[in-house]
Amino acid sequence: MVIYSGHFTPQRQPIPESTQVLNSAGGYAWAVDQWKRLNRFLLLGAEGGTYYVNERTLTRENAAALAQCLNDDPVRTIQTIVDISQEGRAPKNTPALFALALAAAHNQADTRRLALANLTKVVRTGTHLFQFLEAVQVFRGWGRGLRSAVAHWYEGRDPDWIAYQVVKYRQRGGWTHADALRLSHPISSLHDGLFKWIVDGELNSGCPQIVHQFAQLQNAQDEVTVVNLLEDNPLLTWELVPDKFLTSSTVWQAMLPNLPMTALIRNLGRLTVNKAVTVANSDIVTARLIDQETLKRARIHPITILSALETYRQGKGQRGHLEWIPLPQIEAALETAFYRSFGNIIPTNKRIVLALDVSGSMGSGVIAGVPGLTPRVASAAMALVTARVELQHHIIAFSHQMVPFEGEPWQRLADVTRFIDQTPMGGTDCALPMIWALQNNIQADAFMVFTDSETWAGAIHPAQALQEYRLRTGIPAKLIVVAMTSNGFTIADPNDGGMLDVVGFDTATPGLTTDFINGNL
Ligand code: CA
Repeated sequence: MVIYSGHFTPQRQPIPESTQVLNSAGGYAWAVDQWKRLNRFLLLGAEGGTYYVNERTLTRENAAALAQCLNDDPVRTIQTIVDISQEGRAPKNTPALFALALAAAHNQADTRRLALANLTKVVRTGTHLFQFLEAVQVFRGWGRGLRSAVAHWYEGRDPDWIAYQVVKYRQRGGWTHADALRLSHPISSLHDGLFKWIVDGELNSGCPQIVHQFAQLQNAQDEVTVVNLLEDNPLLTWELVPDKFLTSSTVWQAMLPNLPMTALIRNLGRLTVNKAVTVANSDIVTARLIDQETLKRARIHPITILSALETYRQGKGQRGHLEWIPLPQIEAALETAFYRSFGNIIPTNKRIVLALDVSGSMGSGVIAGVPGLTPRVASAAMALVTARVELQHHIIAFSHQMVPFEGEPWQRLADVTRFIDQTPMGGTDCALPMIWALQNNIQADAFMVFTDSETWAGAIHPAQALQEYRLRTGIPAKLIVVAMTSNGFTIADPNDGGMLDVVGFDTATPGLTTDFINGNL
């Protein structure tokens, strides 16, 4: 037992004279400001809610924080939305689309104009457009500003590119391109043939080539026709091929060389079932999967890979109609790809304690809508990213007590996430990592705590435990709180420069934490 030399306060009470607020678990933590909340929302979304609040409430809370940002500084808010979206830092673009839609409905005309002027930066595919339209309709009507922004989305770009978006993403959430065109009335002689086809379905000489080829694919009766078309135009992706040909090994083999990275990652099960990928040729696929440049160029988010790995490993599709025997080569490549998708991580070579909150609340909600990817499973994956490059690390898990898993295999990601998934849940005491380090004479330059900050069960606050640790050891240890949900709390004292809030599964997180641990922030 550690005898505290400094002041300590039970987590059910606020630290005296601090700005702590009541969290959702009945403990006290700090509220993050609206800008941090905006970041958490853009990066993690609100999908599945949290243990304490449902998805709708969490979305409403985040929308309120977003509205506050827009009132305080619309330029900074919209720039943040654009940056996080364009840099591909978030697992999903949906929260950015929602945020831009809200900005496009703001009561200040300048804010609305600025939001719509950035439409093409955030709305980059046909699907994004449908998602944006679905969101924006809730907040505002089809005024002139929205009409001309959407019209510009179609008119402002090359007809071939628009045609590709139209044939690839044909509808979503009840929206079609015909709907969007009828509401926005774009006028462009360059796109005339294409627009006519979208609205009335009639092929004409003004349609880009890909539209004609798409029509031929839809009417194809045999594999040879399909394969010939695919060989003619590498842009004809699998979404354009009628379902009846998607069970054909020949067709998949024809698509394989030009299959875009995301499509490749999402279809590994199908490629294995159809024997388009086998042990004999898997090295062609694995070489592409683990190529850091390709991963970067295609903006493949780590969650996309983690989700694909989880699905592939199980040997059956999420809707359950496909079954395959997973190839170990592909599994291994996906795991490597997961780490590489964070980019080059330069180690700090400092002593780091990676502490996973495996309490009950961390088992609720899903990250980016990936089945089974709860915050507690996801945090294990995140911790491994650091553990792989930092040689001097300890990985520990806690709830209201330390959860032992010494001797557990921390080599394979799949084993780790499965182990965490099966670990019993408990209450929450986020001070435990620092107390554990004191009791076990662990020297740490930094503690990284992966948590929702819903701490309540401890006799001392995490920030106080860290101060105690610094006092006793003489090490100016830092605390990094890795947020795994988009709630509004943190255990990091905002007035302590040695504590930092970051967001889990932000691809920028490893770089930020490295800079912070090295004292460069
Ligand atoms: Ca908890």
